[in-house]
Amino acid sequence: MKSFDIPQQFSSSFIDEINEIRNTNDRLKKDFSPSLLSFENADVLIARHFGFCYGVKNAVEIAFKVIADNPDKKIYLLSEIIHNPSVNESLLELGVQFIQDEKGNQIIEWSTINSEDIVITPAFGTTNEIQEILNSKEVNLKQYDTTCPFVEKVWKRGNELASNDATLIIHGKTTHEETRATFSQTSGKRIIVESIEEAKELATDIRREDFDDKWKDRVSDGFNFEADFDKIGVINQTTMLAEETHEIAELFKNLMIEIHSESQIQQHFVNTRDTLCYATNDNQSATKALAKEKLDLTLVIGGYNSSNTSHLLELFDEGSNIYFIKDEQDLISNKEINHFNLANKSIIGSSNYIPNKTKLRIGITAGASCPNSTIEEVIKKLLSFKNENVDIQSALSALKNRINGF
Ligand code: SF4
Repeated sequence: MKSFDIPQQFSSSFIDEINEIRNTNDRLKKDFSPSLLSFENADVLIARHFGFCYGVKNAVEIAFKVIADNPDKKIYLLSEIIHNPSVNESLLELGVQFIQDEKGNQIIEWSTINSEDIVITPAFGTTNEIQEILNSKEVNLKQYDTTCPFVEKVWKRGNELASNDATLIIHGKTTHEETRATFSQTSGKRIIVESIEEAKELATDIRREDFDDKWKDRVSDGFNFEADFDKIGVINQTTMLAEETHEIAELFKNLMIEIHSESQIQQHFVNTRDTLCYATNDNQSATKALAKEKLDLTLVIGGYNSSNTSHLLELFDEGSNIYFIKDEQDLISNKEINHFNLANKSIIGSSNYIPNKTKLRIGITAGASCPNSTIEEVIKKLLSFKNENVDIQSALSALKNRINGF
């Protein structure tokens, strides 16, 4: 896979070495077991796959290169480049301005942007409407477009389905940049469902041909509820829970069989498993393998607004001692931790999060937008609370020997 030039402040030779040790012996990435780093007072199990994916590395590399190459230009990003606070803060410090927030609310008026300015499209892509506004101002969007090729692959697949007269069911968060972009960049009949629960509600509405009002805000112009569920294909926001997308696809396939019979299914349902992103799949499979381990404490690291990070938490059993943190600053002390509560979408503080054990087993994973440097800092800070003499080189050598069967 292509290598990227990521700014030093987001890199970590410690994390790079773990990946190199694992990749040397598992080039095809079939082994999802976590990497064990053994220290005096703690075993740290790091998910086999985590952190910056292809699309994020590409976007980060381009954004920082554009800034370095254009010191005299005004540089805008359509919205956050990725959902990670440290990366976004670094860009803001370098003078970049975000035109919209993550929900699409305007921060900078379009009228202030002109053809001399640089406008970077983030990895999520953007909508046709925004492209039209900027094209009318003759802003060179193409040159600074970091839309991930795996997102574009979903758009391409969606448009193929639409040209075969299938209605697209887009599994994604209605307000998320990528789902708004996918909805806009695909043609034909489209509807967004956010979860398996919503998919079940929609299936019920289709069966009784009576549709809840909420769907009206989730469909393409001119959508005909009575006629437009005759042929269905499911595509997804690439960072959703892969299993949930499969479940939603199965639900609608079975609904089509129920309505039209098994022998007619080819005419009424199109299988689209291939729109799932490789990184989301790998990170989720690796996190599932991590979740099977006996762990005293687990930290899932990523921006609080990161969709893919939040889905990693859903892969752990309820009641696990698990915390969603953005970086090492959330580890206030060995007693206090700040973390994001997904249920009520707020940051809360908890006490006594580190179990009182002589040797802890700690699980670590991170979302696709979390820099390696953040993961390293979290591990080091946590180990320091155990008065650990953090001998990283010995832990890495032991991992290497274990992997090589010595
Ligand atoms: S999560 Fe997948 S689709 Fe999204 S930016 Fe990363 S590689 Fe691309």
